[in-house]
Amino acid sequence: MPEFTFPRRTVLAGGVALPAMGALGATGIANARTSLAASTQYSFAVGDFEVSTLLAGVRTVDDDPQRIFGLNIDQAEFRSVSEANFIPSDRTQFSFIPTVVRTGRDVVLFDTGLNSRGITSALEQASVAPSEVSIVVLTHMHGDHIGGLTDDAGELTFVNARYITGQVEYDFWAARGDDGFDRKVRPLAEKMTFIGDGGSVTSGISGVAAFGHTPGHMGYMLESGGERLMLIADTANHYVWSLAYPDWEVRFDADKTAAAASRRKILGMAAADRLPIVGYHMPFPGIGYVTPDGPTEFHYVPVTYQLTL
Ligand SMILES: [Zn+2]
Repeated sequence: MPEFTFPRRTVLAGGVALPAMGALGATGIANARTSLAASTQYSFAVGDFEVSTLLAGVRTVDDDPQRIFGLNIDQAEFRSVSEANFIPSDRTQFSFIPTVVRTGRDVVLFDTGLNSRGITSALEQASVAPSEVSIVVLTHMHGDHIGGLTDDAGELTFVNARYITGQVEYDFWAARGDDGFDRKVRPLAEKMTFIGDGGSVTSGISGVAAFGHTPGHMGYMLESGGERLMLIADTANHYVWSLAYPDWEVRFDADKTAAAASRRKILGMAAADRLPIVGYHMPFPGIGYVTPDGPTEFHYVPVTYQLTL
């Protein structure tokens, strides 16, 4: 595992993070082979909102993906599902996809990637200066979401922003004590607003409880001009091995039962209402639709040109 390790202290501490991703400091999309992700930002409109998904990093994992996904599934099933979906069962690739939304009133950034350099250069691709960001929303406190709040020297990346996150999530990490949280998030507490399920970020953007991945993990619903988009964050971290099989256990889900219930709730809502969703770790540009696949599972339909016609 040359570029991705599972630090045992992190994993055993309750599935704290997509581990080591912040520590490794990778922002690059450097890959010997050409990736489909030639662009690092994808912009479209949701009503009057201008939305850009930002590729703040990609990581290839050359290790058994079943150490992360399908913990409760036998290896033969994991392999056959992978094969049926035309993906290898012995390695995988994650994107890291913060989203920025220009509402006309606010510039709202959802999550901050692995580090300040990554999010700053991704924002630049979308022609957004860090100083323009007026609200930073944290879906949860894992290192690959909070890493870009400050740079290596501890300076704020978003000097003019206020911050919004889930009350349950903040309270959990504040009580627990955690190095990343204490360094990146706790110092911002005075600039932070805490919300619950349905709480408002700004006009047209509200929180959707999706607890389980972490105790207070939340998604966000965007609504403008009669159009909607849901940011599901880490509700499902792989388009096949998690989204399509919500009951497959994921190492990084702190509460595996709650995480599965949240997948059913959130993905069921997306499927019923035919909503486009953005998944933080889905293949870039991170946007797709969800259809029911039989009575209990889901199928991911990547976006093509629907949102940009
Ligand atoms: Zn994540």
